[in-house]
Amino acid sequence: MKKLFVCTTCGFKGYPKKKVKGSILTEIFLWIFFILPGLIYSIWRLNSKTWVCPKCGNQTMIPADSPVGQKLTS
Ligand SMILES: [Zn+2]
Repeated sequence: MKKLFVCTTCGFKGYPKKKVKGSILTEIFLWIFFILPGLIYSIWRLNSKTWVCPKCGNQTMIPADSPVGQKLTS
């Protein structure tokens, strides 16, 4: 069973949306022409992966079973 999340900004209940900065095309381009920048770019993209609220786009999704989440959902 997947964990439910709640947004502390808009109160949306559900699952957060995965958001990755940068683009896959830039990554491929860098990998083809410059191996090292491609590697750095890939690492940067992996580290910049965030979960955002699908409704308001804020990074304020918290687990619904956390103390604050329970307060918001009840
Ligand atoms: Zn929200």
